[in-house]
Amino acid sequence: MKCHVLYEVENLLKNIQPLKRCHILCQYRYASSNTFKFADLQVQLTSSPKPKPDDPDNLLFGHHFSDHMLEVPWSADKGWGKPLISPFHNLSLHPAAKCLHYATELFEGMKAYKSAEGKINMFRPSENMARMTSTAKRASLPTFDGDELIMCIKKLVSIDKEWVPRSDKASLYIRPTLIGTESVLRVDAPKQALLFVLIGPVGAYYPTGLKPVSLLADPKYVRAWPGGSGNFKMGCNYAPTMFVQKEAAAKGCQQVLWLYGEEEQITEVGAMNLFMYWTNENGEDELITCPLNGLVLPGVTRKSLLELAKSWGEFKVSEREYTMQDIIKGLKENRVKEFFGAGTACVVSPVEKILYKSQWLSIPTMSEGAPLTMRMYNTLLDIQYGRTQHEWAVPVE
Ligand SMILES: *Cc1c(COP(=O)(O)O)cnc(C)c1O
Repeated sequence: MKCHVLYEVENLLKNIQPLKRCHILCQYRYASSNTFKFADLQVQLTSSPKPKPDDPDNLLFGHHFSDHMLEVPWSADKGWGKPLISPFHNLSLHPAAKCLHYATELFEGMKAYKSAEGKINMFRPSENMARMTSTAKRASLPTFDGDELIMCIKKLVSIDKEWVPRSDKASLYIRPTLIGTESVLRVDAPKQALLFVLIGPVGAYYPTGLKPVSLLADPKYVRAWPGGSGNFKMGCNYAPTMFVQKEAAAKGCQQVLWLYGEEEQITEVGAMNLFMYWTNENGEDELITCPLNGLVLPGVTRKSLLELAKSWGEFKVSEREYTMQDIIKGLKENRVKEFFGAGTACVVSPVEKILYKSQWLSIPTMSEGAPLTMRMYNTLLDIQYGRTQHEWAVPVE
């Protein structure tokens, strides 16, 4: 009897396995062709270009947009549509679009820089694409081939190349965005989406040189937690931070330092990763930043600074957890040298003060002119503006 049943099961498996293999193969084929293609890009140029802002070095961040934008529609039935570059315009959305209710939205932030010779570079764009597609997956939004989007963005930037400031302080900010547009008030993965890219000139973050900032560290607020989505660039992570940012401003701080857990781990600040350069408990000079433990955004600047510091080989470079108590003890024992944020907007941002439990901790970052912070800043800027040749600078044309 038992033998007979086994025989039946074996027979069934024989039939099922080839089917399943085929199914897996089909899924794979579907996934690898499920992208839009630069080759399908259509372009409609504006007949009424806007005047460009006069003083590129003093532009406010995110206020100005170029003459064109890129859009690619997606639907679960038809997959990706054709990419389109057209004159900058408002979007038309159904009021039930899921992005408006459940925040199915994600974005990227990257820049293009004009060199003294007028050549335009992007900085490590494939890193942004890898982050964008991994965020899309986590957000239940469609993924795509990042190289195809880079080619479309290059075309958009080259069409609007007069919008890239001719200044070694200013740059062109690039904002790829993906939203769920399906007009159904059901909490599930959107069956329609829209990818779009806006570009616009931004001024020097620090027109008169690096200005140190002050931070509010209040353990009663948390930005991200293990298993959450704080390590993805999704709009839903930023809305709740604005309230805390206002509280920081009211207390005379420019940014919020996000702590985590009972140990009060140092995670990151605003939209920047954080680095501390200090002499550690063992007397070694060490550059330290929070590991990619789900509590911080995997910054492209963070990754680049870690790679640079490791290539210099002059001090220990660590991705490990560290806490408010480590900083307080380090400050007491005069072991903290520099503390700085790192992100696309400003490259690096030195920290001079932290307001923690009603006490100002003074950080000596600037006391000797912040040599490491400055070296990081100059090295990255030289690469971005094409003053030193480096594979991280990717030409647009
Ligand atoms: C974008 C962002 C960063 C910095 O990432 P970069 O790729 O270096 O610009 C850091 N933290 C948060 C929360 C961010 O949103």
